[in-house]
Amino acid sequence: MTRELTCIICPRGCGLKVEIEDGKVVSVTGNSCPRGVKYAEDECCNPMRTITSTVRCEDGRVISVKTDRPIPKAKMFECMKMINSATAHLPIHIGDVIIEDVFGSNVVATENA
Ligand code: SF4
Repeated sequence: MTRELTCIICPRGCGLKVEIEDGKVVSVTGNSCPRGVKYAEDECCNPMRTITSTVRCEDGRVISVKTDRPIPKAKMFECMKMINSATAHLPIHIGDVIIEDVFGSNVVATENA
């Protein structure tokens, strides 16, 4: 199987062609540096995403949050359900943990309230 990806590691945005056999990357072309190979392998075999969203505070305000580390892409919707059902307790400072241990990450505040 061949996949075509755009490397997002740097602004150059190399177009990558990735050959996959038995769930493993066997060749990557189009990359201008070795980071493109690592990106292709991660994206094809273990895609991860940083989630950004909002959480409602106990007084009704809404604050922006994000995962402090990427989580498995396959867990994005479960993560969003957890975020959507959470309530943040005031006061909140940037970096405060709003939800602990979400698929290997914490959901943290990205604004004060
Ligand atoms: S392959 Fe290297 S040069 Fe190309 S976009 Fe990725 S990081 Fe940038």
